[in-house]
Amino acid sequence: MKNNDCIFCKIANGEIPSTTLYEDDAFRVILDMGPATRGHALLLPKEHYADLFELDDETASKVLIRAKRIALRMKNALGADGFNLVQNNGEAAGQTVFHFHMHLIPRYQDDHAGILWKPGTVTPEEMEQIKELVDGQ
Ligand code: 5GP
Ligand code: ZN
Repeated sequence: MKNNDCIFCKIANGEIPSTTLYEDDAFRVILDMGPATRGHALLLPKEHYADLFELDDETASKVLIRAKRIALRMKNALGADGFNLVQNNGEAAGQTVFHFHMHLIPRYQDDHAGILWKPGTVTPEEMEQIKELVDGQ
C-alpha cells in the first residue's frame, strides 16, 4: 500500500524526482539530501511500511540482500574504506521520516562522520535482567 501523505512513497514511486542509484519493482535507492558522507544513500521499499516492525519477513530479507549488493557497488565505485548500514525506528531512535528506509553510508578514513556511539557501562546483574526480560517475550 502507498500512503498519500508520505514523501518517501512519492520519491520511491517516482512521483517526486530523486537521484536514483538503483531501481527495481520493489525498491529504489536514492542519494540522501543531507549526507553524512560522500555517497550517503537511502534504500526505500516502494510499498509503505512505517518502520522495521511493519515489514513482512520476505521484504525484510530482500532489504538486506539488496543493501549488501548496492553497498558493495558503492564501496568499489567511491573508494570507500568502510561502510555503515543504519536503520532508525521511532523518534527516540532518531527516525524522522516514517517510511522504512535503510541508510547506506560509505565511510572514509578520518571522515569524522558522527555515527558511532560512546560506550556506556553495564553490570553483570543488569545483563542478566535484560536477558530474562527478552527471554520472557
Ligand atoms: P531518518 O532520520 O528518518 O533515519 O532519516 C531520514 C533521512 O532522509 C535523513 O538522512 C534526511 O536527510 C533524508 N531525507 C529527508 N527528506 C528527504 C528528501 O526529500 N529527499 C532525500 N533525498 N532525502 C531526504
Ligand atoms: Zn511511505
